[in-house]
Amino acid sequence: MYPLILKKLIQTLAQLPGLGEKSATRICMFLLSKPELCETLSELIKELPFKLKLCKLCRNLSEDEFCFICKDSSRNREILCIVENPISVFNIESLKIYNGLYFVLHYLLSPKEGIGPKELGLDFLFYLIKVKDVKEVIIALSPTVNGEITASYILENLKNIPVKVTKIACGIPMGMDLQFVDPLTLKKALQGREILQGK
Ligand SMILES: [Zn+2]
Repeated sequence: MYPLILKKLIQTLAQLPGLGEKSATRICMFLLSKPELCETLSELIKELPFKLKLCKLCRNLSEDEFCFICKDSSRNREILCIVENPISVFNIESLKIYNGLYFVLHYLLSPKEGIGPKELGLDFLFYLIKVKDVKEVIIALSPTVNGEITASYILENLKNIPVKVTKIACGIPMGMDLQFVDPLTLKKALQGREILQGK
């Protein structure tokens, strides 16, 4: 039997995605020999919810009111890429082929789970596209059922706005979560996006 504090830590760590009790135990044993790491980790984790907020424009994670991408004056403000989460922003940024802005939904529409347009900030997205004079909207969502529902909803609502709408498509298998797509496939999907509206 493990001492109580160790047992509690194992149980807590085991709640993290991808970690079962075995991996949690291994991490705990490792941490026992690293007091400095324990201190740094605990400080960072404690600060996390207070230091991070959503960028007021694109809803990406940021320490300031506006994220570093929205603040960067060299970015092309006429292109807006709609992604599900900050991991997608990170993955697309790593490709170094995209210079536009983003909009992070954080969720996908899911009528079953009661997740609607409000949770995704869609009214604000449509407002932004109108007032910021966006020329192209790229829909870069996972080709899953909820990803497709969300993409259709967005497309439907952009019908009366004179903006080009494209969607990343080629090479990504149906049902696959975008965050697990390898960089080369993601690059091809972004470069070879299909036009859904406009020229
Ligand atoms: Zn931003």
